Amino acid sequence: MNTTNQHDKKLRIGVIGTGAIGVDHIRRCTHTLSGAEIVAVSDVNIDNAKKAVTPHNPNAKAYESGHDVINAENVDAVMVTSWGPTHAEYVLSAIKAGKFVFCEKPLATTIEDCDKIIQAEQAHGSRLVQVGFMRPYDKDYRALRKMIVDGAIGTPLMVHAAHRNQNVGENYVTSMAIFDTLIHELDVLRWLLDDDYISAQVIFPRQTSHTHAKLRDPQIVLLETKSGVRIDVEVFVNCQYGYDIQCSVVGEKGIVSLPDPAAVALRSDAKLCTPILTDWKERFIDAYDIEIQEFIDGCKTGKIKGPSSWNGYVAAVAAEACVKAQETQAIEAISIPERPAMYK
Ligand code: NAP
Repeated sequence: MNTTNQHDKKLRIGVIGTGAIGVDHIRRCTHTLSGAEIVAVSDVNIDNAKKAVTPHNPNAKAYESGHDVINAENVDAVMVTSWGPTHAEYVLSAIKAGKFVFCEKPLATTIEDCDKIIQAEQAHGSRLVQVGFMRPYDKDYRALRKMIVDGAIGTPLMVHAAHRNQNVGENYVTSMAIFDTLIHELDVLRWLLDDDYISAQVIFPRQTSHTHAKLRDPQIVLLETKSGVRIDVEVFVNCQYGYDIQCSVVGEKGIVSLPDPAAVALRSDAKLCTPILTDWKERFIDAYDIEIQEFIDGCKTGKIKGPSSWNGYVAAVAAEACVKAQETQAIEAISIPERPAMYK
């Protein structure tokens, strides 16, 4: 898009996929953030697309196909919030149209498709893609990283993390614990440690009775980084009690840990209680707001800064090794090629 005199004009966004997060991003662009408006939407169910923008986005048109959204003349930037396996097709189409695109994680569901995206973006010559890894925008993760960078815990040695969801549906299978869930840790822990992974192993503890035949739950993922940091991540997606994200980094002279989200404490009946969140949309609501505002501002200035296609590619490489490790129950190597200059 032409960036001259664009600062005062609203960025016109087209959204592909109006399920849970698509609707949430439409809400935040419409009611919470500044500088953008939703002008086009699509979903496999066009009635859902229409409902997602009515009545607050009078200028929005619903299209049958995501490609029509991308190619609509009045769409400046695209948001891909459809089902993961459709992401690559839409992101490649947006790059071809020369439009900025925010793609929810995962960037693509195979390494080959992630590779096609980074090749296409490099051929374009400048960044067009921001991937929806929002944890680096969370104030507590940022505080954790600052402490590590400032040397508060000395050299990091180990990370203990947990990603727990209250429950998942019958269509959530064992590999999704990696591609859908762990993928956030795969991105944010690299960023926290400023390091890359070299191996992965997956251990299956005793199963919870709350799972189903196609899902091993819980799982423990063990990662090793180039510098020798050892990471264990518990992924437990039927934990019953809430949505709970934990992370502690152990260093040579101290430990930094994510705090629990602020909540009112109730003293009553000889107990002290604080509620635990159950909805992921609430847990990272501020991070999503900052992430999408940064995307909007980046599109308007012609320079986006958030997690790149390279982050999406590296997460996919690590995720694929983890899925292999689920199958082999062995330690699997993770080999990440040199980062192309455009992403340095
Ligand atoms: P969802 O509720 O199932 O929504 C996906 C929507 O996309 C559905 O309405 C689906 O329609 C539609 N869709 C499927 N294929 C499409 C296509 N070819 N063109 C247009 N629309 C299509 O899932 P969600 O929870 O919103 O997740 C969407 C994406 O966001 C996933 O990649 C997910 O991993 C990611 N996500 C990220 C976060 C985060 O924290 N960053 C959180 C949640 C989700 P049908 O229902 O009819 O199939």
